Amino acid sequence: MAATKPEMTDSWVMKLCRRRHKNIAAVALAAKNARTAWALLIRNQVIKEVAACTCDRCGRRMTPDAAQPYEWAEKLSIAFRGGYGSVFGDGNDVSIDLCQHCVRDTLGEWLRIEPPDGPTGVE
Ligand SMILES: [Zn+2]
Repeated sequence: MAATKPEMTDSWVMKLCRRRHKNIAAVALAAKNARTAWALLIRNQVIKEVAACTCDRCGRRMTPDAAQPYEWAEKLSIAFRGGYGSVFGDGNDVSIDLCQHCVRDTLGEWLRIEPPDGPTGVE
């Protein structure tokens, strides 16, 4: 693929192919993919074990069994890895946890907030 569609390949792979034999580059790419897969597996396991988090904006502590359960249910957690050409940088991990108050305060202008379906709010 690298030879036929260079725009579709990782620049890291292209640089490696120019420096080393293609078999070495293939093994290095396989090892890199294995490390990425392992990191994703570990991350998923950690996410399952999260019992609390802290709002990155205001510092509010949120737990699923808190006195205010909606704080946990309505928090916003974003986590992803920047891909090729990402504004966050190739391969960088990006994450944030926000409480519902900070979601409203920071994104409120762009949030689509609609009442539940039905005239009484019950479907
Ligand atoms: Zn907050």
